[in-house]
Amino acid sequence: MRPFTSTISLDEARRRLQVNVRPIERIERVRLAEAANRVVATDVFSSIDVPPFARSAMDGYALRAVDVTGASRETPVTLRVVDRIYTGQLSAVAIEPGTCSEIATGAPLPTGADAVVMVEETTKIDEGHVRLFGTVAPGQHVGRRGADITRGDRVATAGDLLTPSRIGALAAIGAVDVEAFAKPRVAILSTGNEVVEGGQPLAPGQIYDVNRFTLAAIVSAHGGLPEPHHPVADTVDSLGVALDVCAAADLIVFSGGSSVGERDLVADAVAARGEMIFHGIAVRPGKPTAFARIGSTPFFGMPGNPTSCLSNAYVLLVPFLRATARLPLDAPRTVRVPLARRIASAVGRHQFYTVQLRDGAAHPAFKGSGDITSLSRADGYIEIPAEQDVVEEGETVTVTLL
Ligand code: AMP
Ligand code: MG
Repeated sequence: MRPFTSTISLDEARRRLQVNVRPIERIERVRLAEAANRVVATDVFSSIDVPPFARSAMDGYALRAVDVTGASRETPVTLRVVDRIYTGQLSAVAIEPGTCSEIATGAPLPTGADAVVMVEETTKIDEGHVRLFGTVAPGQHVGRRGADITRGDRVATAGDLLTPSRIGALAAIGAVDVEAFAKPRVAILSTGNEVVEGGQPLAPGQIYDVNRFTLAAIVSAHGGLPEPHHPVADTVDSLGVALDVCAAADLIVFSGGSSVGERDLVADAVAARGEMIFHGIAVRPGKPTAFARIGSTPFFGMPGNPTSCLSNAYVLLVPFLRATARLPLDAPRTVRVPLARRIASAVGRHQFYTVQLRDGAAHPAFKGSGDITSLSRADGYIEIPAEQDVVEEGETVTVTLL
């Protein structure tokens, strides 16, 4: 065993990660239907007016506002109805003084009309005449041509996150696709002689690969494109080959073999190819976490223990990946509740402690860093700073929800 010579604080690890982020530069065209949560790469300007024509905003009667001046319940105005205009069609009949056309919401305003009286303020006398009780100002209940988007307007700005409404604005101008930043390709690979894939019986001493799946899920959820690989044995040669296979990715994430046991050769394999930026963080769980650059490709060496691996993925990989993908920082939801039972914590390590929320309190739920159920059965986690040794029962804690 070669012990860790030193660890760095969580804040220092975050700082070193932040300075090593290289936001993705590759651009690709993405169909609008697949554009949710993508990041716009190139400004988009409209070549049309939206709406493309003046339209009625109400079901009612299109007319000249001046023709209903002073109209009220007591003094209604009667106009001759010259047409009935549905959506999707233009009226061939111009509105002259003393006339109006029945019109549907969204239908083009006829020539000569400048306002719409809504149907609630009218009564039909017969097919050819209507009585109107409401006055309107010119332009009232009319959607002006280009009122929503004017030709030449910027509809999407480089760097914008494509929310549903921004996708809607692109759809409104007839766009079918948009230039977006590519999703970072994230190579994911588990190391360990004992680690095998699901779908086959376990030989003595073997376990199923968990980290490949937790990491792929978290990468997908935060704007990356997971590229999972088969588990690799603990030999310098196979790890070297694995690193070469992953070299085309934008980010490499290995798990296992990152501590300093005899067989933990990942750090050696990485150090032989690139620059180790840190190895060992004063957190619990998750101390044996490494970060390096191999050429220009960032490399995360996550601990093999599934809860350590996933917990550090939340805390360190997610912000790094989101920044690489140009996504805004994630703002996890938190709740403040009393702690149901006292938790002791080792001084000198920032501790993540999983909890379940029951009866308005946080109940400790951490089993062990090797147990995925420490997380899968938890609702969230609390953080205990490195200098603190205990959180007392009843103390109000901030739970970050998972
Ligand atoms: P290591 O970081 O390689 O020393 O592994 C620490 C512990 O995590 C060991 O009990 C491993 O068997 C286990 N482990 C490593 N990789 C995985 C994995 N991909 N899935 C599940 N458990 C793992
Ligand atoms: Mg191992």
